[in-house]
Formats: sequence, structure tokens, C-alpha cells
Amino acid sequence: MTSRNVSCFPEARKVAIFGGTHGNEMSGVMLVNMWKKNGAEIQRNGMVTKPFITNPRAVEKCTRYIDTDLNRAFTPENLSGPWDEGLPYEVQRAKEINQMFGPKGSPDAYDVIFDLHNTTSNMGSTLILESSTDHFNLQMVHYIKKSIAPASCAVLLNEHPHLKYSTSRSVAKHPIGLEVGPQPQGVLRSNIFESMRDILKHALDFIELFNTGVEFPPCAVDVFKVIERVDYPRDANGNITAMVHPHLQDCDWEPLNPGDPMFQTFDGRAVPYQGSSPVYPTFINEAAYYEKQQAFVITRREMLAATAIRKSI
Ligand SMILES: [Zn+2]
Repeated sequence: MTSRNVSCFPEARKVAIFGGTHGNEMSGVMLVNMWKKNGAEIQRNGMVTKPFITNPRAVEKCTRYIDTDLNRAFTPENLSGPWDEGLPYEVQRAKEINQMFGPKGSPDAYDVIFDLHNTTSNMGSTLILESSTDHFNLQMVHYIKKSIAPASCAVLLNEHPHLKYSTSRSVAKHPIGLEVGPQPQGVLRSNIFESMRDILKHALDFIELFNTGVEFPPCAVDVFKVIERVDYPRDANGNITAMVHPHLQDCDWEPLNPGDPMFQTFDGRAVPYQGSSPVYPTFINEAAYYEKQQAFVITRREMLAATAIRKSI
């Protein structure tokens, strides 16, 4: 920080784009494979952009993962533990990826990793941040939002101490997730593919501008901060006893007010939201989260302040 309150960061020269962290999320898989054949549109001056399939075996089988969720596998225990052929496939893979793009938390780590995901929820385009104080990433998402207008892009902030997880992208100094939906698992939709591609192009433009020495002035970023997970109502055996209510289904990012219906039981009874103030649900009825006992996540809306940034000299 200088006295003018400008945050300085080194140039971002090493950038990676991850696809296939979940092997059945097709936009990222297809974009990364396309860019591996011809990377012209993701190359920018002064930086190397590496497209990379993180979970090739899951991609081959078109499944979320083989043994365990790769996007939860980058824990300190997994990354520092001894190598063993008997480890779950994704733990082995996390170790390899950490060697190639990290080590996580070290000066050698990649500067930026974009991790491309699809959701079955009606979330539209969503950028996912893991820190409210990474001013480089805050400025990047501000730039992206401005550049794609009037199209919109929500920003989800996941830094909850108990709900944050150990993502593939967390290996980078500036990790950023891109989640675009709705798209069924194993399906490729052209509109989702093109939205993702467009956002990536603007993100890379931002990094190129930053590297050339452009100073980005202070700005505010509207984010949705993850507060808690909500599970489906269940019986004593753990079986689901209700569905997402039709008034909530597909209403990602819209306010849920106290008393609004959340679930509908199989005999038609509405289960209301009993919180004390409005919240913003998202990842509503995400297919991949049934196994995680999660019907949706609740967020609160916040404005984050980003300081001015420029590259360190
Ligand atoms: Zn995913």
C-alpha cells in the first residue's frame, strides 16, 4: 500500500484456465479442449495462458468425479501427505495439480486460475470469489461486470470459515471460479458456452491491461456472501420429504422473505422460510448437491470496496 492507497501487485504472467474439475460440466470441458487445439483467443501479450483439463478420467466417463470430489480435495492434509498409489484418484490428481500450478501458498504458484463450472440451477453467469480482500480479483470482477453489460453476472463470495472448501483453483494466488447455468449435467448448450467464453475473454483483457501498467481506480462490487447451507426436509431415515417450492424454484438471486415458501411436501404443504430478514438463495436445487445434503445456499447482499490497483514497479 502506498499513501495514495493503491494496492500494488506483481504482473500476472502465469494464468491457467481449468475445465473438467467436474467431468460432466460440459462448457468448461469443451472450451478448454478447444483452446488446447487453438489457443489464439486466450493468448495475451506478456502472459502465458494455459488451458488444462483437471480431471481427465471423470471427463472421459462424463461423471462429476471418480472417487471423491476434486473441488474439495485441495486440503493441506491431502497436498502435504505422502504419495501412495492407493490414494483416491482425485487426491492423487490434486497433488499433481499442486505441483504443476502451485505449490499452493508459495511464490511459485500461478498468478490467476479460472476454474470453469456449470450448474443445473438458474444462476446465470456467476463469478465466485474466495476472499473479500483480494483487490486484484475485486477489480477484475468489476471490470468483467462493466464489460459485459447489459448482460449481467453475479458475484458469489465464499469465505465462510465452515462452508468454504478446498477448490482446485485455490492453488493460485488469485483464484476465481466461473459458474454458468442452467445447464444439465452432460449437456452442452450454446448460450451457456458463449457466455462463459465471453466472460473469459474480458477477464484476460483485464489482466493484459493490468500488466501494461493501467491503474484501476477504487470501485465498489456488489456481492452475494454465502451465509449458510439449507438441506431438504428429511425423515428419520434421511430420506427427502419435500421438494423445492415452485415459488422458489429458478429464483436464484431473488430475495426470500420471512414467511415465503421454501419447500413443498409431497402432500402439498408449504414449508416457509423462518429467518428474521430477507436473504438471497442461490444454487437452488443444484443436481450435484443432493449428495451433499444441500437444497440451496443462503446469501446476503453486500457492497465490497476495492482499492485502486496497479502493478508494482
Ligand atoms: Zn462444478
